[in-house]
Amino acid sequence: MAHSEPIPVLDLSPEIAACRAELVRAFEAVLDGRQFILGPEVRAFEQEVASHLGAAHAIGVNSGTDALVISLRALDIGPGDEVVTTPFTFFATAEAIAIVGASPVFVDIDPLTYAMDPSLVESGMTERTKAILPVHLFGHAAAMEDLMRIARERNVCVVEDAAQAFGGRFNDESVGTIGTLGAYSFFPSKNLGAFGDGGLITTNSDTLAERVRSLRAHGGRRKYQNEELGYNSRLDELQAALLRVKLRHIDNANSGRRRVAAAYGTLLADLDGVVLPSTKQTVTHVYHQYTVRITGGRRDEVAASLAKKAIATMVYYPVPVHLLPVFASQYATGDYPVAEQAAGEVLSLPIWPTMHDSVIERVATSLRNAVG
Ligand SMILES: *Cc1c(COP(=O)(O)O)cnc(C)c1O
Repeated sequence: MAHSEPIPVLDLSPEIAACRAELVRAFEAVLDGRQFILGPEVRAFEQEVASHLGAAHAIGVNSGTDALVISLRALDIGPGDEVVTTPFTFFATAEAIAIVGASPVFVDIDPLTYAMDPSLVESGMTERTKAILPVHLFGHAAAMEDLMRIARERNVCVVEDAAQAFGGRFNDESVGTIGTLGAYSFFPSKNLGAFGDGGLITTNSDTLAERVRSLRAHGGRRKYQNEELGYNSRLDELQAALLRVKLRHIDNANSGRRRVAAAYGTLLADLDGVVLPSTKQTVTHVYHQYTVRITGGRRDEVAASLAKKAIATMVYYPVPVHLLPVFASQYATGDYPVAEQAAGEVLSLPIWPTMHDSVIERVATSLRNAVG
């Protein structure tokens, strides 16, 4: 890559190129099969992905957002109920809670992992609390051992937002399979990305799996036997066929991301004013994002200086959820100070599985120069 060539935050082209022939064959098989809704590809993908993750059931849905909404509906969470979650996440996490009629209750985050601080969770719980909804942000697992213990003691469910952490692990378990239900997204930029929208729900409960299957198809276990109000939220047959191909490459892709993260870690070690991502020993991080903190109020200046070198970066997320216009009337600045500080300091650097060493070095050198 020539020195001035732009570096995007994510380059999907090498991954697509590597399995292009397999993808085209899968696409053609669906065209020839002419079964476009809940056909053999969805059934096969659901089995393959369940066994890959180590879950008893996997149910394909239309998006990660729908995976959260349907998970909450399957637990009968609705008006009058509260769900404890994080203010530092993509909007859809809290949106799903509110759209089923329940109230999100935020608790602040751990400044190192950016996930919910488990020591604060009980302070957010009341007799109305029905579930805890942790997010495995940037590919790093939330503190599942503590959260599961609290959930058991208080007799509430856990819905894991694993949208950014497909393949990530906590101890020996895949994230998303530890709580009551797990929600995943196949948005194209996610670690396991489709070619359009898609999502997945995992559970080890036969009863919940049956309810989820019914809810994704208009609330009926059989056609024309609708039992409750549901959704039209099926994973497309075509997306399932393409995802089956990408599933065969996901472990490699996630190792590739870890390789890039390790290289950044070496090249950026002991750089003043830059805090690197930290990993708990029990966690296998899958680096959906490689997110650093730029301290001293210099984040935007550093991002601008990288942009001048044609290096793209992103800020996930510039505004914590409680201060977004839709919720802001209920909260004030200062309510969740750790999340608010993170929003002002985080910067996600370019990362993708096959990122070349010379590209990683150019990003790291430019970041050193920008802060130095
Ligand atoms: C992407 C994402 C979602 C939503 O997934 P979609 O497939 O885009 O609906 C939910 N939560 C988090 C943390 C996400 O990153």
